[in-house]
Amino acid sequence: MNQNIAIDGPAGAGKSTIARRVAAERKMIYVDTGAMYRAMGIFLQRKQVDLSDPAAVQAAADEADISIEYQNDAQQVILCGENVTGLLRTEEAGHGASLVSVLAPVRRKMVELQQRLASRTAVVMDGRDIGTVVLPDALLKIYLTASSEVRARRRCHELEEKGESCRLEDIQKDIEERDYRDMHREISPLVQADDAVLVDSSDMTIDEVVVRIIRLYEERL
Ligand code: C5P
Repeated sequence: MNQNIAIDGPAGAGKSTIARRVAAERKMIYVDTGAMYRAMGIFLQRKQVDLSDPAAVQAAADEADISIEYQNDAQQVILCGENVTGLLRTEEAGHGASLVSVLAPVRRKMVELQQRLASRTAVVMDGRDIGTVVLPDALLKIYLTASSEVRARRRCHELEEKGESCRLEDIQKDIEERDYRDMHREISPLVQADDAVLVDSSDMTIDEVVVRIIRLYEERL
């Protein structure tokens, strides 16, 4: 039986924190698909690929060797033999991912890899197109969102905890631009799947969201 959970939603809605917690509680594998797009962004940038040249993008996407490994349950992204996990969680890598994720050869490659991962074991997978494209038969689909102001505040808080400075207006502007690009791109735009449950976490704690998702999942099992 298909026991996968798909979690989609805009940047900074708390998808990865929540997906990781749900996976740990249910002893499932967590797959962070944003990290794969971030790695692809780094690859295309390092190779200085002209993103407006479809043939060059196709050739580079074919060449990009991206795989996932787990160390102590934490996902590691391996790009051409190099563990790039530590480079992925920056604003710059997120911005780069959002630029390359509009490209068809990139999406084809990522979707194939993600489907292969989910065919081996039950996963909690988060991203933008998981319920609509990658795992259309997922047992539970969640569309997790929060207002852009709340999401920007959470991002800023995260950055400050890491000792980085942050301007709330800049982060909110970047989040809104990224949402716009993700929701209006031609291929696999971010939309709520018809059968996804909408969860607005603006006024919820992480624990509350996790409990809600696990309850919904157990009802369906
Ligand atoms: O979730 P995260 O912020 O790591 O994703 C970075 C970017 O990768 C997103 O803004 C989006 O453009 C892209 N992405 C995507 N499809 C996914 C996951 C991420 O297009 N399944």
